[in-house]
Amino acid sequence: MRDTQFFLRWMAAAAAAVEREADRLTELDSPIGDADHGSNMLRGFTAVGGALDAEAPAAPGAVLQLAGRTLISTVGGASGPLYGTLLRRTGKELGEAAEVSDEELRKALYAGVGAVAQLGGAAPGDKTMLDALVPGVARLATSYRAAADAAENGALATVPMLARKGRASYLGERSIGHQDPGATSSALLFGALADVADV
Ligand code: ADP
Ligand code: MG
Ligand code: MG
Repeated sequence: MRDTQFFLRWMAAAAAAVEREADRLTELDSPIGDADHGSNMLRGFTAVGGALDAEAPAAPGAVLQLAGRTLISTVGGASGPLYGTLLRRTGKELGEAAEVSDEELRKALYAGVGAVAQLGGAAPGDKTMLDALVPGVARLATSYRAAADAAENGALATVPMLARKGRASYLGERSIGHQDPGATSSALLFGALADVADV
């Protein structure tokens, strides 16, 4: 079973990964975006750390809901509401239980990814974060590490795609040949989950 501390460790590991990779995320957002994905994610996850410290939520669902609300209120870009929705919806699905099973978390994340697709209107193949999130949740039933690997491969697979949603879609054919920044940060979130789960 996974307790509140596990979810706090996940959010801390995600923040550390975002901090480590922020420059790269911004570089990926330069040719097909507005070069702010790293700074958006860094601002958001720094605020998440502060909010979790200040409010000390007492259940897994509450950790993710607070993290999601914080991303929505601190990140101006498209990624703020999308990741905010992912974590808020996942947290809501977990309810008020003090501990959740891996199967409950898998189902909750599946619903969270569905909420991202509904909010943004994107599908796999559109060169967005969903190209990492969807294969990631699909492999959660195997292991957290398999999910992280699938998300990473999903991010790499966005390179030849034509962007159909978000800023990159304004570029049309010129979006081809670049890795999607949001898919890359989604792989970091799955990587952070695997790092805290498989120890
Ligand atoms: P902005 O594009 O507003 O500057 P960011 O740079 O922080 O926001 O985030 C861009 C990322 O958001 C993209 O790389 C893509 O993965 C994701 N994204 C944008 N629009 C959508 C959408 N409609 N559905 C899913 N993901 C999206
Ligand atoms: Mg951007
Ligand atoms: Mg922007």
